[in-house]
Amino acid sequence: MLPSARLPIAGERKGSRWDQARLVTPIGVIVVVAILCVIVAVLTSARRADEVAFNTEQQLMVQSIDEHGLHAMHLVEGVAATPSATARIRTDYDPQWADQRIGQWLAKFHFDVAMIVDGADRVEYRYPAANLGERDLSAEVAPIIALLRGRLNAMPAQAVALIEGQDPAKPGRSAVLVQNFFGQPAYVAAVAVGSDTDLAHGNDSAPIVLAVKYIGARLLDKIGSRLQLASLRAIAKPSAKADGNHSLDLTDVQGGMVARFSWKPTRPGGAIVASVAPFIAVALAGFALFVVLGIRYMRRTAEEIATGERQLRHLALHDPVCGLPNRIYFGERLEQTINNVRGGGLSAAVFYIDLDHFKDVNDTLGHHIGDELILNVTQRLSRIMRGDDLVARLGGDEFAIITTCASDSYSLQAIAGRIIAAVCAPYAISGHNIIIGASIGIAAIDRRVGDAADILRYADMALYRAKNEGRNRACIYDAAMDADLSNRKLLEGDLLQAIKNDGLRAAYQPIVNAAGDTVVGVEALARWTHPTHGEIPPSRFIPIAEHSGLIIELGEWMLRRACLDGRNWPNLAISVNVSPLQFRRSDFVEVVERILTETDFDANRLELELTESTLLGNLETAELSMLRLKAIGVRFALDDFGTGYSSLLYLRRFPFDKLKIDSSFVRSIEKAPDAAAIVHAVVSLGRGLGMKVTAEGVETAEQHLFLRAAGVHSMQGFRFGKPGTAGEIDHRLASPDDYRVGSPDQEVALAS
Ligand code: C2E
Ligand code: MG
Ligand code: MG
Repeated sequence: MLPSARLPIAGERKGSRWDQARLVTPIGVIVVVAILCVIVAVLTSARRADEVAFNTEQQLMVQSIDEHGLHAMHLVEGVAATPSATARIRTDYDPQWADQRIGQWLAKFHFDVAMIVDGADRVEYRYPAANLGERDLSAEVAPIIALLRGRLNAMPAQAVALIEGQDPAKPGRSAVLVQNFFGQPAYVAAVAVGSDTDLAHGNDSAPIVLAVKYIGARLLDKIGSRLQLASLRAIAKPSAKADGNHSLDLTDVQGGMVARFSWKPTRPGGAIVASVAPFIAVALAGFALFVVLGIRYMRRTAEEIATGERQLRHLALHDPVCGLPNRIYFGERLEQTINNVRGGGLSAAVFYIDLDHFKDVNDTLGHHIGDELILNVTQRLSRIMRGDDLVARLGGDEFAIITTCASDSYSLQAIAGRIIAAVCAPYAISGHNIIIGASIGIAAIDRRVGDAADILRYADMALYRAKNEGRNRACIYDAAMDADLSNRKLLEGDLLQAIKNDGLRAAYQPIVNAAGDTVVGVEALARWTHPTHGEIPPSRFIPIAEHSGLIIELGEWMLRRACLDGRNWPNLAISVNVSPLQFRRSDFVEVVERILTETDFDANRLELELTESTLLGNLETAELSMLRLKAIGVRFALDDFGTGYSSLLYLRRFPFDKLKIDSSFVRSIEKAPDAAAIVHAVVSLGRGLGMKVTAEGVETAEQHLFLRAAGVHSMQGFRFGKPGTAGEIDHRLASPDDYRVGSPDQEVALAS
């Protein structure tokens, strides 16, 4: 009864949307990495561009410093390395000429200092810059004079010689240095005066023209604008920091700092970054949007999945019609409850409820009314049970309740009584008054109990017992039922053998006219004498046959037997009971026709007894089968009228020829005035619909009298004869006087 495997309650349909959601994460990571790579690449190339630009600027700067220095030297050569300079300075010093053609001339080219020293390094002429006043310049010019005169072994310290490859041993006619001149970087150019012959052996005693040009703001502006270096300047203190600007250090041969120039870096990398930045910004914004949308999508998808899972789980665990937990949920809860009880928790019980006549409602009034009825039952059950009890719907008309309660039979029956009272109270649904019943099987859960499957089996057995004992009642499982079940199983096997081996018998109960003096028919009733258990009543073996499907073979056997025996009683109608399972078979009509042919029995004498439950299901097919058999002369009786759903629908819709009032009514005639009234009503109803009415179970003269007066056409009961063998019927037909009953009028009068 328990599901062998759990349904995929959660997580199974995580499906493609979840996968899509999970795709967002790797895509996001890839995009982030890609953007980071682009940023790093841009920054690296920007830095590289800055480095390249800086190197280039430095080179250009060095070149420019060189060019300007050499240019200055050439300017000095232009005035000092001439024959007139040799004549006016070396041969015969002309101070006026020197002032005009050296000092003032060089001043025009923005030299700050012009000097002439004689062969012994004495200053002959000086055109100083105004700011130097009368200061002694000899220390400042000493290095270049020493260089030019060839007194040095190496290039002078604290100065940078600009002539490439100049040999201090053979310095040549000219030299130019960059050096500090009273604290400021300056070009100091010196040219020896004399003809080539004069200087052929060196400049030892040659007069020298010296010129100094500060590498100051004006010159640096010029260089800066040519090289496009902004804020190019000489840093006064070379040790000072270049405060973020680029700088170029001029160093002497020993690496000592001579001058430092700084300028504002162009930083093309910045421009690159600036030009790429908007695109990166757009990409980042796009990515941010992607992430936001992705997260939103993931969150929404996750919510949808969670909702879907909840719904799936709910669907998997609940009944779609009434919303109650279904069999699976019930099974899980039952296991929990059993574990609780075993663990020392309160004892509990399962109430297995089967609605009586629910199928009738469904079949006669339609499924929508059936569903509505289930909802009503659900509400009633939920209302009478406690909040922590579990009310579940296990199937069509099966409900089950798990409740914690005392396990004594008094408490269990009290709860069952409440359930039956609730379920059996009338329902008003869509203008229909509906009454149904409830049979309940109860299985108590205590510490010694087995597993969930055992409990359900117990409850099921108890339910079977409740139904068999007449429905609308509850039975509590006890160990004897297990034996009952195995007995049933054994009987089932024996019954099969009995059917196969002609081990059944047919008994015939006479049906008499209203006066009770003439047998008008017989009802064939199955009898089974078990080889070891003896006589088994139909009330025991018919349900077993119906439960196992053996009723098909049993029914056919009985019909054939009755037809064969019935041939001996040409004036009697033969009634044969037909079970629902038999009647609903698609070949039922053919089976009856075949047996009639095989036994050569007159169809007009055959009466089939159906109960209301036989007709349930497909009303059209049932009606058609009846009509087909009626067409060949077979008649139909509605058996046990008053015990089933007792719907007028059956009487009106189906072509019954006879109505058999159930013995329970007949039995109550004398006790309950209502029953008498009902019998009257049923008789007039049957008559009104053109049917014959037979009363069953007539035992007493009072009943006989009452029924005859009520207008019943025929009667059946112990008063007129118990079911007997075919031989007894033969005997009775042959000598009717032996069986005659007295007039009920006289008997009743005598008794009173
Ligand atoms: P039923 O068709 O209503 O048959 C009438 C039952 O009432 C018979 O019980 C009969 O013995 C019993 N009966 C008749 N008169 C009296 C009376 O005055 N007092 C009392 N107390 N009982 C009386 P039986 O033979 O035990 O059969 C019980 C039921 O089993 C039948 O009820 C019928 O529904 C079913 N049945 C019997 N034979 C067959 C059969 O061959 N096929 C099918 N499908 N059902 C059968
Ligand atoms: Mg019957
Ligand atoms: Mg009956």
